[in-house]
Amino acid sequence: MTAALPPARALHSVADLVAEGLVPAADAPVLETVAQAFRVRVTPQMRDAARASDPVARQFVPSAQELTISPNDLADPIGDDAHAPVPGLTHRYPDRVILHVTKTCEVYCRFCFRRETVGETGHLPQAQLDAALDYIARTPAIWEVILTGGDPLVLSARRIAHLMARLNAIPHVGVVRLHTRVPVVVPDRVTDALIAALRLHPAVWVVIHTNHADELTAAARAALARLADAGVPLLSQSVLLRGVNDSVQALETLFRALVRLRVKPYYLHHCDLARGAGHFRTTIAEGQALMAALRGRLSGTCLPTYVLDLPGGFGKVPVGPDYLRHDGERWLVTDLNGGIHGYSDPAES
Ligand SMILES: *Cc1c(COP(=O)(O)O)cnc(C)c1O
Ligand code: SF4
Repeated sequence: MTAALPPARALHSVADLVAEGLVPAADAPVLETVAQAFRVRVTPQMRDAARASDPVARQFVPSAQELTISPNDLADPIGDDAHAPVPGLTHRYPDRVILHVTKTCEVYCRFCFRRETVGETGHLPQAQLDAALDYIARTPAIWEVILTGGDPLVLSARRIAHLMARLNAIPHVGVVRLHTRVPVVVPDRVTDALIAALRLHPAVWVVIHTNHADELTAAARAALARLADAGVPLLSQSVLLRGVNDSVQALETLFRALVRLRVKPYYLHHCDLARGAGHFRTTIAEGQALMAALRGRLSGTCLPTYVLDLPGGFGKVPVGPDYLRHDGERWLVTDLNGGIHGYSDPAES
């Protein structure tokens, strides 16, 4: 190895983005206004990827379009706050909770569904973490604990180890899942110590947030391989984003790349109603058409479920496309080429 370079710094401000050539100086004043409303942070790895790829740049570099707030936009688009039994915990489905261990992220995505709260404070204070773990321990229906944030992998390996050990001590918690962008946006954080910490729970699943194959740099691919080699099952979630991945080709390339990296595409999220993110939203019909086209082309291993997280905290719902109708007598099933076939259930006895 050559002598280590000083660690490259993340870009935190519009001035940083101008200095790095990611935005023209003339745009700085309007983008300052954007940055006051919604935090800016781009890691060195995503700075480099953004220079080479517009679909990556659009995800992290602020735009004046974020100042357009439409009347449909919501401050808490998925109703996190509506189901919080104790601070930092969301319990919407009986068998699983999400635990917001931190509010910070390594990058701030311009379409983030939690953009009103990310970055505001750091780690969940110890007393609140203890209260959340107490709630989990005294609620036997909780089978799965989902660590999210912000991004849970901004925590040190030591903190993750501590949390995994405490969750492992609760007998009814069968599975721990982490939702993270870290292996893609700061792959160096996926160290042996971090992997060992994750593996302190015997059934830890990691869900990678990634939206475009151009994010999957050589370093990101290596980080995913380290996790897979260590036996950590990997899933992905992506957000359908206008101008980033709203084409058959972009999604096909992403999903095939993920499966080759041993990551199973899990969810494709319809873009939430976050404030100032309207320019990223497609219609649901566009999303359904993309999914229908992909179903005809890709292995089932490559296909995620297209879901809408209902505003108001009513949960995620698969939104199609639909292949099935009932005409009162029998099912009418649409095949991949648009042909329609009758199918009758067994007669009731
Ligand atoms: C998305 C979400 C989950 C996880 O849902 P899955 O469908 O199991 O991935 C759990 N709780 C809340 C509050 C969520 O928003
Ligand atoms: S990494 Fe996730 S939580 Fe953080 S800004 Fe991006 S979308 Fe939001």
